[in-house]
Amino acid sequence: MVLAVHGVVAGALATVARANPVTGFFIGFLSHFLLDAFPHWDYFHLLPSFSKQEGQKVRHLQFVRDIFWICCDIGLGVLLSLLFFVFHRDLGGVVTKGVFWAIIGSIVPDVLQYLAMKLPWKPLTLFRRLHDYFHSKTKLNGAAAFGIGIQVVVVILAASLTFF
Ligand SMILES: [Zn+2]
Repeated sequence: MVLAVHGVVAGALATVARANPVTGFFIGFLSHFLLDAFPHWDYFHLLPSFSKQEGQKVRHLQFVRDIFWICCDIGLGVLLSLLFFVFHRDLGGVVTKGVFWAIIGSIVPDVLQYLAMKLPWKPLTLFRRLHDYFHSKTKLNGAAAFGIGIQVVVVILAASLTFF
């Protein structure tokens, strides 16, 4: 899943659970693995920094551009979460910190995954194996419209969770 979807789902769960920062973080962290278990589309394979083969060099500008797109993705998740859960007419600010830490927790697994690709550090390698174990083996990379459509539906379902 893209990071914005991870963030919104984590924010919704943290809101429903009235999470504090600690429980929010763990809700976000665990929900990441749950979402990744479903076949999904993402754009990481389109970013040179993430898809490069062994021995291929990534240019500095490519890396900066890749990080820009990832920041836009995270920013979208934060923006949608603010709209749905923090400025929510009934919930307004009730679990702001819980939502914030849930979003952080939902992004951390992919940050660790990226670091594991770059740094040969045993704990990171073990984490990468764990992440890959839970990650769906079916990719919808060839079906972007369908894959993005599903994620829009997931965002709508997550946002509507807080209305019950
Ligand atoms: Zn992931």
